[in-house]
Amino acid sequence: MPRSILVVEDEKEIRDLLALYLRKEGFSPLLAPDGETAILSARREKPDLVLLDILLPKADGLEVLRAIRTTPEIAGTPVVMLTAKGDETDRIVGLELGADDYIPKPFSPREVVARIKAILRRSHAAAGEPEPALLSYRELRMDVGRHEVRIQGKPVSLTSKEFRILQALLASSGRVLSREAILRKVWGEDTHVIDRTVDVHIAKLRQKIPLLVKAIETVKDVGYKLREG
Ligand code: CA
Repeated sequence: MPRSILVVEDEKEIRDLLALYLRKEGFSPLLAPDGETAILSARREKPDLVLLDILLPKADGLEVLRAIRTTPEIAGTPVVMLTAKGDETDRIVGLELGADDYIPKPFSPREVVARIKAILRRSHAAAGEPEPALLSYRELRMDVGRHEVRIQGKPVSLTSKEFRILQALLASSGRVLSREAILRKVWGEDTHVIDRTVDVHIAKLRQKIPLLVKAIETVKDVGYKLREG
């Protein structure tokens, strides 16, 4: 069965262009011209991925994203936001709300299709597979079960929080992790820890493991990501 991609975009030309490229690549595009239609269609059709414009009539992209994330049957659907160039706020809010990626406009349809394929590969790999017990990044090896990190065979001593932040980064396959997401993963939902705490722990990690100085990239106003190894 071809994978279905819900394209939410009010500009007909862009919508049709994306649909054309998606069809050419073997996907089955579903089209929605406004936010309300998008929410209904996402709930009814359960697409494999949603490509979501932000500025939309009826309900904007962030509302659509929120509706998807709070509807249990489709909450895990990957969502790629299409953002106006240079609009940091939308990008940040989108990532905080759980968008998987964003593509600034204007974009090339080819790039959009490439990103969609990468995300589907990733989410496919994540679904149903248990968390890996061994993670690695260049010369770094993490044994999750033993709570051990080694660089070229030499053990590095990390606190449990540092260990878990590093684990989250290693497991994120190059995705941006917002400070919020890191807090949730490492400290849990019920936390009074502030975002700055994450920065302090990242600084410690970079201090203890020099290869992470460049490998952990700071994404301005959002969080962190691990550069492709
Ligand atoms: Ca628009």
